[in-house]
Amino acid sequence: MPPTRTAEVIGAGLAGLTAATALAQRGWSVRLHERESEIRAIGAGIYVWGNGLATLEALGMYEEAAAGAHVGTALETRDHRDRTVEELPINGPGQARVLTIMRDHLIDTLIGGARRAGVEIRTGSEAVEATPDGRVLLRSGETARADAVLAADGVNSRIRRQYDVVARRAAIKQGATRLTVPRSAEFVPAADQGNYIEYFSGRRRVLYTPSSETNLYVALVADEDDRPASRIPIDTASWIRSFPHLEALLGACAGVAGRWDTFQFLTLTRWSMGRLAFLGDAAHAQPPYLGQGGGCAMMSALGLADALGDPSAPVDQRLRDWEYAERPTIEHTQRWSYRLGHLNNLPDAARSSLLRGSRLLPRLGASRMRAALTVPTGAGRFAGTSR
Ligand SMILES: Cc1cc2nc3c(=O)[nH]c(=O)nc-3n(C[C@H](O)[C@H](O)[C@H](O)COP(=O)(O)OP(=O)(O)OC[C@H]3O[C@@H](n4cnc5c(N)ncnc54)[C@H](O)[C@@H]3O)c2cc1C
Repeated sequence: MPPTRTAEVIGAGLAGLTAATALAQRGWSVRLHERESEIRAIGAGIYVWGNGLATLEALGMYEEAAAGAHVGTALETRDHRDRTVEELPINGPGQARVLTIMRDHLIDTLIGGARRAGVEIRTGSEAVEATPDGRVLLRSGETARADAVLAADGVNSRIRRQYDVVARRAAIKQGATRLTVPRSAEFVPAADQGNYIEYFSGRRRVLYTPSSETNLYVALVADEDDRPASRIPIDTASWIRSFPHLEALLGACAGVAGRWDTFQFLTLTRWSMGRLAFLGDAAHAQPPYLGQGGGCAMMSALGLADALGDPSAPVDQRLRDWEYAERPTIEHTQRWSYRLGHLNNLPDAARSSLLRGSRLLPRLGASRMRAALTVPTGAGRFAGTSR
């Protein structure tokens, strides 16, 4: 029998948990290192599109992750006067699939799946160095050697900083406060309550996202230098001035603990070196205008495990094959995500008419659909992403 192959995975976010589980399910012996004392979900809710859902199906975790999730029927964009300027039907036959899930539920599901697959999860275990020959140095002083080392340590990856691999890192100069409030019939008219709605006003956006039967995920998006907009707890009066029609919703956000994060865009010259690979936001962070950073991270992590599952070629070659297979789709999604950020640079009237009727609209819609319909290479028999 060939010796069991080993992997050290650094970072227990969506990318690290997915890669660790998928590798363990393929017979690898996997250790997952998380520097925090516990694995925490960052943010409130999350949009999981077809690629992320197909990944969960391939991992055998779809049913658990989807339990209690919200299934919207449309993705709407509203202008500064609360008029619908774009509407994308979802989750119907032949349409894109997307669920919204509370992040802590998604992360807990992935942790449970990782444990069941036999992943050894080590919290409070920070990696300080990793090398292309498969060596990992931990802050504790311990070193480990593995057939593959996966750096899934987020957009500010310490491991990546050891190497000159950043091709482009763009400052988006926007960010969002994410928070959760109890759902209420007062926030939006009855007909809209099950939809996902993105409201624009000036350079600000509000994202209305039911994420379970009882929880509403709210994202308040603004320029980094819009000080009142990035204040925590939120400056309710300032937000209501921009969105008077959302007074009840914004009032409910007053005093709620939230988290402000700025947006990132990152590409690398290469995703791997020898036995060391970068994945998730550490390799391909994108601003969240498409809600696809996590889906891409999970999809690509599954593809990586699939590529490594083939024992017929050396690890470095399999990692290069994985990058070759995944990179075009991920970079397509990153580019469109980046472009959608420019909608905030337009005056209200120009943005409304652009979204309502311009030639760009089919391209935006088509691009969202393509990103949503992306199928992870490792999803195998779960390749159907619309139903
Ligand atoms: C406002 C906002 C909204 C978003 N909305 C969506 C959405 O709706 N849908 C979607 O798909 N995506 C969304 N995203 C993007 C998504 O959250 C990220 O792409 C995804 O979480 C990245 O996962 P990751 O595992 O690569 O990185 P991370 O989630 O950053 O995980 C990295 C982990 O590594 C750990 N770590 C770091 N350094 C070390 C070390 N040296 N040793 C050990 N552990 C370490 C960290 O503690 C962390 O747990 C959004 C992002 C933002 C900012």
